[in-house]
Amino acid sequence: MGEGQTVPLAAEQAHYLFSVMRLGVGDAVLVFGGRAGEWLARVSTAGKRGGALLCERQTRPLRLPPDLWLLFAPIKKARTDFIVEKAAEMGAARICPVQTDFTNAERIRQDRLQAHAIEAAEQCGGTYVPEVCNLRRLSDILADWPEGRRLMFCDEALVGAGAALGDAPRGPWAILIGPEGGFSDAERTRLRGLPFAHPVSLGPRVLRADTAAVAAMTLWQQALGD
Ligand code: SAM
Repeated sequence: MGEGQTVPLAAEQAHYLFSVMRLGVGDAVLVFGGRAGEWLARVSTAGKRGGALLCERQTRPLRLPPDLWLLFAPIKKARTDFIVEKAAEMGAARICPVQTDFTNAERIRQDRLQAHAIEAAEQCGGTYVPEVCNLRRLSDILADWPEGRRLMFCDEALVGAGAALGDAPRGPWAILIGPEGGFSDAERTRLRGLPFAHPVSLGPRVLRADTAAVAAMTLWQQALGD
């Protein structure tokens, strides 16, 4: 995006702007995406199956969230949607569905989840849309883990690890939440042995995975966020 640049609209966006919001040529809208921040734009063409906006001026610069990824095992559709929505609201930089030993989902609709992340970012006035990744096996992700990124490994089987983030360093982090069936013994052993992993208990109650994701992000934001 830049001054005088045209932004083409997809059919759903055109439907929303022209049929739902009843905007027409010349009307103003705020747009954001990529690294461009938020821009004031005007409708330059409006059609049933598309249209375009013309960018006028930047209204807010891009504000990057802390470098936090949320890794979670997809659960039922509505709850997976909830996790993505809340992660985007809470400022995750990247949202990664992972397939663990006890994950039931074999595929996800990445495009649907990305659309939820966009809506959530719009709703909370963010200028950044987190990337929703495709489903990958946890073992593959751990095998090429990026250097310098720490992992907050949330597991109900841990005891008394609530203060684990107290002295932890800032910088790039990821949070890992397991599926309804929890982690397998092999995964627990592997995760506990990783030098970059910080095992964290979220308290004595067994939380649903979607609740755990929100609780873990809140805890992390409070201890290590901006
Ligand atoms: N019975 C399962 C087990 O044995 O782990 C329960 C899994 S729980 C419904 C789903 C995920 O939420 C867990 O794998 C963990 O990542 C997270 N979680 C739930 N409660 C937690 C707690 N008290 N502390 C840390 N993580 C928790």
